[in-house]
Amino acid sequence: MKVKFWGVRGSLPTPGPKTARYGGNTTCLQVLRDSGPLIILDAGTGVRELSDHLMKSQKPPYDIRMLVTHTHWDHIHGFPFFVPIYVPGTTMEVYGIGPIHNGKSFERVMRDQMTYSYFPVENTMLDDTVKYFDFNDLFKHREGGVEGFFKLCPDVTVRLKLTNHPVFCVAYRIEADGKKFIFTGDHEPYYDTTPQSSDSTSTETDNKALVDLMNERFIEFCEGVDLLVIDTTYTDAEYNGQPGKPATSKRGWGHSTFEYNIEVAKRAKVKKLVFTHHDPTRTDDDLDRLMEKYLAHAKRVIPNIEVMASREGLVVDV
Ligand SMILES: [Zn+2]
Ligand SMILES: [Zn+2]
Repeated sequence: MKVKFWGVRGSLPTPGPKTARYGGNTTCLQVLRDSGPLIILDAGTGVRELSDHLMKSQKPPYDIRMLVTHTHWDHIHGFPFFVPIYVPGTTMEVYGIGPIHNGKSFERVMRDQMTYSYFPVENTMLDDTVKYFDFNDLFKHREGGVEGFFKLCPDVTVRLKLTNHPVFCVAYRIEADGKKFIFTGDHEPYYDTTPQSSDSTSTETDNKALVDLMNERFIEFCEGVDLLVIDTTYTDAEYNGQPGKPATSKRGWGHSTFEYNIEVAKRAKVKKLVFTHHDPTRTDDDLDRLMEKYLAHAKRVIPNIEVMASREGLVVDV
């Protein structure tokens, strides 16, 4: 199993000469295997590049499984530009989770972005090719809810883990060909959201225990995987902001940091670590500088783990 990166940017596409080396398209990954259906993770604008490649290199009919981590724009807004959905004979199963906050199912959100208000082709044109599956429905009677595993196709098992993000978001652990690979989608370390008092109260102690448990469960989910591809939008300094100025903090925006992710890789004993979902304000030179710093940091903390930054076109052996 290999993983190919078609889009590596978080939040917003960032075209232009200053981002050409790492790439400006938003999140999209492809799982490469010798046989079975085409597996795609997220449909940010990178999926259009994958679409072009597919249309040139393979003849229809296409058999596709798409796993969407969540419905924020940068993870779905390439979907209407994925040409195989318009090709007669295509079979496409699209899995994801509805944001629920406003009562919308996954299918509703995906269909809504293909209405005439936003796009010239209505989703109803895809009814013969695209089937949507919402984990909230698929697993509503299962003990443990959506967190568990299912067979995506005969040789591929997918485990799900909810991540900490402003809407429901699932990390996918894909197990196939004797290997394990995780793509987290967007994820922020859990933290205590209640205001802190000057003396420690028993409620604060309980909250801390719960936060530690939630973070521990994320590390358990990552335990021993061959490849961990993880949301690394910020540095710790950017995440925390300036002392005494809470408005400069990125806490609660749903993203993680280089420092935290290196710690996750160490504790979970993963074999390879890839930073992705690059902040849209970063140029290629910014990313080069950050990678120089954090590769050196990783070399000290996790010397036996291969670490790299994602960029468009990168293929990683799982
Ligand atoms: Zn995102
Ligand atoms: Zn998001």
